[in-house]
Amino acid sequence: MTLEEMISKNRADCTGCAACKNICPKNCITMERDDEGFLYPKINRDECINCGRCEKVCPALNFKATMPNALPDVHAAIYPDEKIRRHSSSGGAFTALSELVLEDGGIVFGAGFNENWRVVHTAAENLDELENLRGSKYVQSEIGDVYKRVKAELETGRQVLFSATPCQCAGLKSFLGKDYFNLLTVDIICHGTPSPMLWENYLEYISNGHDIAHVNFRSKRRGWVDLHLEVNFYDCGYYLKGVADDVYLKQFLTELIERPSCHECKFKFPNGKSDVTIGDAWGVTRFAPKLNDNRGTSLVIVHTDKAKKFLAQSKLRGQMVSFDVLPMFNPCFLTSIPPDARREDFFDDIKNYPNHSVDIMQHYFRQNPNGVVEEGRNVHAEAMQKYIAVSQHLAKLREKNVLFVMPELNMDMAKSLAKSILENFKDSGGYILHVQGDGNFMFLDALHPVISLNVETGFENVQTLLQDFHITDIFIERNMQLSEDTLKFLNNGGFTLRGFGLKEM
Ligand SMILES: Cc1cc2nc3c(=O)[nH]c(=O)nc-3n(C[C@H](O)[C@H](O)[C@H](O)COP(=O)(O)OP(=O)(O)OC[C@H]3O[C@@H](n4cnc5c(N)ncnc54)[C@H](O)[C@@H]3O)c2cc1C
Ligand code: SF4
Ligand code: SF4
Ligand code: SF4
Repeated sequence: MTLEEMISKNRADCTGCAACKNICPKNCITMERDDEGFLYPKINRDECINCGRCEKVCPALNFKATMPNALPDVHAAIYPDEKIRRHSSSGGAFTALSELVLEDGGIVFGAGFNENWRVVHTAAENLDELENLRGSKYVQSEIGDVYKRVKAELETGRQVLFSATPCQCAGLKSFLGKDYFNLLTVDIICHGTPSPMLWENYLEYISNGHDIAHVNFRSKRRGWVDLHLEVNFYDCGYYLKGVADDVYLKQFLTELIERPSCHECKFKFPNGKSDVTIGDAWGVTRFAPKLNDNRGTSLVIVHTDKAKKFLAQSKLRGQMVSFDVLPMFNPCFLTSIPPDARREDFFDDIKNYPNHSVDIMQHYFRQNPNGVVEEGRNVHAEAMQKYIAVSQHLAKLREKNVLFVMPELNMDMAKSLAKSILENFKDSGGYILHVQGDGNFMFLDALHPVISLNVETGFENVQTLLQDFHITDIFIERNMQLSEDTLKFLNNGGFTLRGFGLKEM
């Protein structure tokens, strides 16, 4: 299939990673904006020699799902210097890893602003230049020819850090085609990336002709948790608005303005290609309260030994936390966010009235300032479902039977999750125990129709049941309030206890 065929069949397959553009030996691929303002490859067929390299390099066209052999280690961490942390979106993990590379004479690539405040991938050779890369830019960055520059630096033996979205890391890895000992790839937990065209129009509207001195998508003036967009001007103070009032931030977070590929993202865990993933430690007050001061805490998810060494040498301080904090508090690590139900109408309006994009954004904002939440949509449940699938796979690798103790979801949701677990877990034995509000456990199992047991009185029965089913591992939603007796029973039962959720067991 050609790239054009792939894109015309399903536009959402192309992430705009630009691996095709970078690999083309004839330089006959340009990345051009569509009506929504996202970049897609355009091939000049007059120049093309049909070498097929663009098709071979495309991570979307050649996508193969992977499954991990183990869950990665997850750390909650903060950078000790307060000034650096204030200017970082989360806890400063990006700076901590980057400075190790720069101190070693290496080079760091990441998303920065160009002279017109467009977000582009660029390089930093020292700590001063790193400032431009620091901080999240909530818009899709333009890769340009950066993969070629990364390769050229790698070939000299210089240490390179490449920081980007998961799809861009996949693009780089595919472009390079082999591992390099001197490359560290850092991706982000990725909610999705909005349209650069909308961002540029919006910024022009905010600045209203004044010269921009600085843009910060994650201003911490009102703390870390309360997201604010701040734009500073040379001659007239600054613009500062939070998610509730700022049209752009709100429409980013309610998924009205993201790239189509972000709603069907192929590069979420476990299909990312980076050494390490960084993100916000949302929920930190619940799982690592000592690391919370509302000035920013990072999550650092370590996929490779190389990343482990970097983390050990870095200035970050923190603690290891359970993998379960991800499906609970940061579902974007595992699942794509569905689009706002009005996305199609919205972009139709943008296409029909391209000079009025800010008016249209404001109109949709006024129409529903809270964004539209689709009926039945629950990203946390989706993330847990994916986590369960990964856990099942890991359990299969270890040839164990597992028991999933579901949180207190409503019955329909619990049943639909149970169904999907059981459907692809027929051969290796998996059972789901749903904990109800009254403290009863209920087996949701196609083969053994609902068995309800009161745990406070029926431990022996539960024990027998677990033995009958040869259950060795138990997954528990850690946020559940289990009685002391229940905990004693679980701890003494000879099971391996794992959790969805909060505190370490
Ligand atoms: C579009 C987007 C969506 C995100 N969604 C989530 C989420 O759902 N959950 C979550 O926990 N974290 C999310 N993050 C990550 C989070 O906002 C922080 O970027 C991350 O925690 C790193 O923070 P830090 O303090 O370590 O370093 P920072 O200094 O804040 O990190 C800066 C580095 O992040 C990378 N980066 C910034 N903007 C972009 C961009 N547009 N494209 C590619 N790379 C970029 C760069 O290379 C940049 O140099 C998202 C980031 C972006 C850009
Ligand atoms: S290589 Fe990237 S930009 Fe090119 S077609 Fe594939 S996904 Fe799209
Ligand atoms: S087939 Fe070869 S020459 Fe043609 S666009 Fe693709 S990479 Fe370029
Ligand atoms: S959500 Fe997926 S496709 Fe969208 S920018 Fe992030 S990694 Fe790329």
